[in-house]
Amino acid sequence: MTYVVPAPETVSLPVIGSADRFPVHRVYCVGRNYEAHAKEMGFTGREPPFFFLKPADAVVAVPAGSIGEIDYPPLTKDLHHEIELVVAIGRGGRNIAVADAARHIYGYAVGLDMTRRDLQSEMKKQGRPWCIGKAFDQSAPIGPITPMARCGELTAGAITLTVNDAPRQASDVSKLIWSVNEVIAHLSAAWDLAPGDLIMTGTPEGVAAVARGDRMHGEIAGLGALDVRVR
Ligand code: MN
Repeated sequence: MTYVVPAPETVSLPVIGSADRFPVHRVYCVGRNYEAHAKEMGFTGREPPFFFLKPADAVVAVPAGSIGEIDYPPLTKDLHHEIELVVAIGRGGRNIAVADAARHIYGYAVGLDMTRRDLQSEMKKQGRPWCIGKAFDQSAPIGPITPMARCGELTAGAITLTVNDAPRQASDVSKLIWSVNEVIAHLSAAWDLAPGDLIMTGTPEGVAAVARGDRMHGEIAGLGALDVRVR
């Protein structure tokens, strides 16, 4: 097969304990999935889950033990961090039942849903799509995937983010309004999930701005940490 323009490369993430990599298909994101974060954004915290997407090539793969780098993006004056549990789908499916959802998970990673908050807020105000606030280049730095076969099903555990070693976000994955399995059920009712899909499951409270030179350090209990510096 030859193409009329250069074909895009497959974006992929390293996998802990394997030389093989996880190929990224789509990146689904859940909005407002921790009550305290929904409240800080001005909502009640009780509503059905809703979704947006980032392009696969917005993912910046950060190998274990290294510091990833992202460029401070254009157009914004308010770049926010959102630390999130990322679920990596290993088996596709549609209309997946909550009770079956865990069988579709390959593993988990720590990720950042970087957000141009000022642009997102303006789009919200105008009732326009969030793409420019959420789906920009390098907006999804993600650490290595820990296979579920290694860490077990992850339903609880501390999720934290520091910026330049100062605490910013701290919660527990057990506080997700919609659990990972419920998110998979909802998502697969709307889209056919496929191997290689990633789901960013939402961020806890404490989102705030970062500046050039800042270093973010994210952890979720049981998973490899994520370090990212803003250029
Ligand atoms: Mn988010």
